[in-house]
Amino acid sequence: MTSAPARRPRLGVMGGTFDPLHHGHLVAASEVAWRFDLDEVVFVPTGQPWQKADSAVSPAEDRYLMTVVATAADPRFTVSRVDVDRPGPTFTTDTLRDLAAQRPGADLFFITGADALEAIVSWKDVDLLWRLAHFVAVSRPGHTLDVRALPAGAVSVVEIPALAISSSDVRRRVREGRPVRYLVPTGVLQYIVKSGLYRDGDGPARSAR
Ligand code: ATP
Ligand code: MG
Repeated sequence: MTSAPARRPRLGVMGGTFDPLHHGHLVAASEVAWRFDLDEVVFVPTGQPWQKADSAVSPAEDRYLMTVVATAADPRFTVSRVDVDRPGPTFTTDTLRDLAAQRPGADLFFITGADALEAIVSWKDVDLLWRLAHFVAVSRPGHTLDVRALPAGAVSVVEIPALAISSSDVRRRVREGRPVRYLVPTGVLQYIVKSGLYRDGDGPARSAR
């Protein structure tokens, strides 16, 4: 009797600055995991994000911990330190190569929002990216997806429930004392309060709510 060939593990990769992680990230990962029958989605917080080099980004360790807190309850979600621990700016080719080396035989699915996909063409070694992973571009309010210029079959487009949440807006809200509850997971809100992240040193001392 011959047994069926083992199915190759299907690994989603959700890269991001996660400063902080919010419900838009979780819904994107969850929806793509379902649509593509993924066994796991690994969240990969960036090290020093080169495309954001001009703006201040919170310490990698804070962003890593918030990502762990936010994903801890979901058995499909894990967090990787490959980008946080690699010195220098983060390039997605390095992320995918490191994860592929850690998971030989797995098929990789890189999950990206519509805005991030627009930036992909400016990434280093863009042709190599398509060989390292299948790309899944999710819809994001305020951004349109145009995959016509990209190689056929390299990118799948997935419509997800629209959440007009961004980390920039969450940071701004904390700075201004406006609510972020329900935009971010409760544990992330608690981490923001405890760490004092996003509070403007010169502004009024307000805590996140
Ligand atoms: P910032 O405002 O600081 O850029 P962000 O909300 O865009 O933060 P990132 O960490 O930059 O979050 O995004 C990580 C990935 O998640 C990107 O591919 C981004 O397009 C995607 N993403 C973020 N928010 C959403 C959302 N609300 N809906 C769909 N995709 C999202
Ligand atoms: Mg962004």
